[in-house]
Amino acid sequence: MPVVQLVWFRSDLRVYDNAALTEAMAQGPTIALFVAFRQSWYQHDMAPVKQDLIRRRVQALQQELAGLNVPLLLVEGNSYQDVQSVFEQLLPLGIARVYTEVEYELRERRRDQVLKDWLAVRGVAWWQCDRQCVFVPGSFVNGSGAMYQVYTPFKKRWLQRFAEQGVQVLAKPKPQAPVVLDLPLVTPMQGGNNSSADWPVQQDDVMQQLRHFCQQQVQDYQKLRDLPALDATSRLSPYLAIGAISVRQCIARLQVEAGADLQQANSGASVWLSELIWRDFYKHVLVAWPDLIKHQPFQTDTAAIRWHNDETLFQAWCDGTTGYPLVDAAMRQLNQTGWMHNRLRMVVASFLVKDLHIDWRWGERYFMSRLIDGDFAANNGGWQWAASTGTDAAPYFRIFNPVTQSERFDPDGIFIRNWVPELARLPNQHIHWPHKLPMSKEYPGAVVDHAKARQVTLELFRHARQQG
Ligand code: FAD
Repeated sequence: MPVVQLVWFRSDLRVYDNAALTEAMAQGPTIALFVAFRQSWYQHDMAPVKQDLIRRRVQALQQELAGLNVPLLLVEGNSYQDVQSVFEQLLPLGIARVYTEVEYELRERRRDQVLKDWLAVRGVAWWQCDRQCVFVPGSFVNGSGAMYQVYTPFKKRWLQRFAEQGVQVLAKPKPQAPVVLDLPLVTPMQGGNNSSADWPVQQDDVMQQLRHFCQQQVQDYQKLRDLPALDATSRLSPYLAIGAISVRQCIARLQVEAGADLQQANSGASVWLSELIWRDFYKHVLVAWPDLIKHQPFQTDTAAIRWHNDETLFQAWCDGTTGYPLVDAAMRQLNQTGWMHNRLRMVVASFLVKDLHIDWRWGERYFMSRLIDGDFAANNGGWQWAASTGTDAAPYFRIFNPVTQSERFDPDGIFIRNWVPELARLPNQHIHWPHKLPMSKEYPGAVVDHAKARQVTLELFRHARQQG
């Protein structure tokens, strides 16, 4: 019987810097598999727009793999049993080993363990690499032998290791001889309802976006990255979230294009690198505290907070009708496109928790159901940061003023006018707080008074601390 290697693509939808693909092809004739889960059990409320991005990316990947003579089978499934039955159909082809890249979420790890054991009984080996982060989670510990809970010492350690080891990017494998096999299953993949067409999915286009950012934009990143009206960040997060590009590729390109600047603290390049280190940090945190996946607050005393959880206010936040222009503009952009700028993610998260007194988990879940770049570790980390419940979180008394944030980061109201057409004709001095003008009556009134809401938040946290 012929021997075939099987690569199971999951969150590593690329041919460059893909250790599972590289290793499999080094061992012999290789075929590949992608299983699209129809339901959200594994996917944590995956947004339809992200599903659509994956569908389009997988189609592009299929062509790229065809160029390497590696056939990619596309299958839909609901559960790990569905994956098992796919394996069952493939085993008669003489599968020697299944190759995957690790996924860190608890249920995904359990799924992999079950499948690995199931395959072992049938004489099929399981090969897994751990390359979602630059450095393997668990490999950084503090003086007491535990994972860092604070970002700054983590980053320091990370930079030391980076200086010692650098990053290695794997090249695209060379084409293999065509595989002649009778491959059983091909199911057309369903996309989500929302179109991701604004996001190119061909490998060359994604690489070009990275190159362009590192050549043309990274110099100004430190200065401009907080201004949502500008396109001044890389917008690579959707690709990093599905593995259409790897974090190593990002860093290697940054070194090529802006290597000298990387040595200077606070240069655009070094600040951008810090963001990629945040990405690693939250993944390391998730691996060290896997129960985060159960949406537990990292700081356990905050579990006692009595959130008000007013459903009408929550709906106003979701719909972008809170009467706070920057919050509403951001939420409308999210609803219409699946994207939101980092500064605005912080503003709307703070607003939900500390102005509306709604449990951060409601917002976390809503984000996952809408974001094109939904990533459990980064999203949970961001929400717990904003809610002051997480590792290295904002102190609870740090409460963003949504109007001041608007004046600072969208001074001319360009972003607001773009997403809140009711306010498009307002002069600059009223765009951040339009409620004094009669002409703003098409726009909703403010659902809360920020100054009062702030006091309530301080009380909620103080009370929970006394309980703890
Ligand atoms: P750039 O500024 O160009 O940064 C480059 C890359 O670094 C990003 O693509 C991302 O992979 C990583 N990165 C940047 N900031 C962070 C951060 N704070 N934490 C972790 N990684 C970071 N990011 C996601 O990828 N998925 C999410 O689901 C997600 N949810 C968030 C929720 C909240 C409440 C907050 C405050 C932040 C969240 N972030 C999330 C982090 C951040 O907002 C996005 O990564 C960033 O806006 C993506 O834009 P960019 O690619 O242009 O980033």
